[in-house]
Amino acid sequence: MAMTRRVLVAGNWKMNGLRADGLALARDVAAATRQLSGDVDLLIFPPATLLAEVGTAIAGSTVALGAQDCAADARGAFTGDLSAAMLADAGCEFVILGHSERRQIHDETSELVARKVMAAQDCNLSTIVCVGETVAERDGGRALAVVGEQIDLSIPQLCNASTLVVAYEPVWAIGTGRTPTIGEIEEVHAFLRDRLRDRFADAGGKIQLLYGGSVKPENAHEILAAGNVDGALVGGASLNADDFLAIAGACD
Ligand code: PEP
Repeated sequence: MAMTRRVLVAGNWKMNGLRADGLALARDVAAATRQLSGDVDLLIFPPATLLAEVGTAIAGSTVALGAQDCAADARGAFTGDLSAAMLADAGCEFVILGHSERRQIHDETSELVARKVMAAQDCNLSTIVCVGETVAERDGGRALAVVGEQIDLSIPQLCNASTLVVAYEPVWAIGTGRTPTIGEIEEVHAFLRDRLRDRFADAGGKIQLLYGGSVKPENAHEILAAGNVDGALVGGASLNADDFLAIAGACD
């Protein structure tokens, strides 16, 4: 675990959670944060319908609020979309951009992700930009080339690196129970770290690098101890407060 970068554990609820369950989950996470070491930052990404109420439920705790996506444009005729300004107005401090489910199911390109990063930055939202290879790309020996291109194209040079977090999420590890070896995680994270340093100089050394993909209480300690891993982006396990908090507690 990095000595100079804080640890961030983020829970992506995806399209899960109606009011009663979502608010209870948020309250349980917020209430338990007093027992966590002060070195870990917690962040939750509820569905958009719950953002404002979850924001109220976690107010006064150290848990921060984020949205799962935002529009690339600032306003206008974009039925169903939410602008970065709307999300900031609802209490968000963060937004996830370029999640593989958006890239695959909604055909989002890295160029679109880059536009969204700029839109978020314009509204003072910090971004978690996700990159990751498919199983075919890994088996074809192209994992580093793929994440390298994704990071180059998804993060504009004008981006404010101090409000940027990068998450390495191998597509084949998301929701599958499969994880890369620690060596594979470290290889990709070291590669991303070098790439960020090349582009952003000193700031590139300060950008937090999260690992995501089937992180659970059982594997969290080993993953979070890996080189250049500054935290975790957690999907399924973030829907259970005990599991999410156990992952955060594994940072110690
Ligand atoms: C994710 O979708 O960001 C994720 C990491 O999911 P899971 O933890 O369920 O693999």
